[in-house]
Amino acid sequence: MKKFPWVANKRYNAFGPYLRSLFGVKVRKIGIDAGFTCPNRDGTKGRGGCIYCEGSGSRAPYVNPELPVIEQIREGKKILNPRNKPMKFIAYFQAYTNTYAPLERLRKLYEEALQDEDVVGISIGTRPDCVDEEKLDYLAELSRRTYLWIEYGLQSARNETLKRINRRHTVEELVWAVEETKKRNINVAVHIIVGLPFEKREDMLYTGEFVSKLPIDGIKIHSLYIPEGTPLARLYRRGYFTPITMDEYIDIVVKIIEMLPPGVLIQRLTGDPDPRTLVAPEWTLRKREILNRIERELELRDTWQGKEWRGK
Ligand code: SF4
Repeated sequence: MKKFPWVANKRYNAFGPYLRSLFGVKVRKIGIDAGFTCPNRDGTKGRGGCIYCEGSGSRAPYVNPELPVIEQIREGKKILNPRNKPMKFIAYFQAYTNTYAPLERLRKLYEEALQDEDVVGISIGTRPDCVDEEKLDYLAELSRRTYLWIEYGLQSARNETLKRINRRHTVEELVWAVEETKKRNINVAVHIIVGLPFEKREDMLYTGEFVSKLPIDGIKIHSLYIPEGTPLARLYRRGYFTPITMDEYIDIVVKIIEMLPPGVLIQRLTGDPDPRTLVAPEWTLRKREILNRIERELELRDTWQGKEWRGK
């Protein structure tokens, strides 16, 4: 059997095993909704949001946004670790745009999360057009005190697609944000979506190739799913868009994994639809099967993360 350089001896650099080796114990992310909104929903940039955005701003189902951050962490710990096993947590500021507020408010919320003794780090999900040098300077200081990640939504490296899915930021803004974050030695991840409407297979592969050349530390690859009540659901019902199949998804994801540099941590390889609001495709609910099939496909093709990496 081949030996791979990553801790779990998988064919890709999986985040979970990496965290376990870093902290010596299992580490899970606790989703937090700290009451932010999003410039693409509050009218600053737009009102409708991205065409696939649920009103909850991607909040995890167990999160109660009414609670203060520290309480959300305590509740999250009970749900994610009901038997109170040895475990640590990363406070994941997940819902909406988690740098979209004055610096003083951000400081208060992030520092509050660090008060929990089991929180070993913070991960902040945001848009690339919602950071500036002042915020990044503060986050650089914070990253010297805790294990910090900033996660930027890119979704596609085609500006034309970003327009059509109503992201209201550009690829160039993402590149600026990633470079400024990396310059400050902060861990940076990007999110991409495979299966967006108006895109062909080559566009999705182009996004994979594009991000493989960015100075990122991590990536989340999401499968597109269609939530009820979104503009995407209307497009789908009117027949303007056919989602990709699970086979197509697996083929493209395997190709993207091959292109990624070996050092990039893969934090996610599927989406996480809420079954109560999912319109289609049904296969996106079968998370375990998707992950198993990706691993099997890597084996069948005898390939691995970085095999097709061409460097910068
Ligand atoms: S940036 Fe995020 S929260 Fe804002 S509209 Fe898009 S998906 Fe929703």
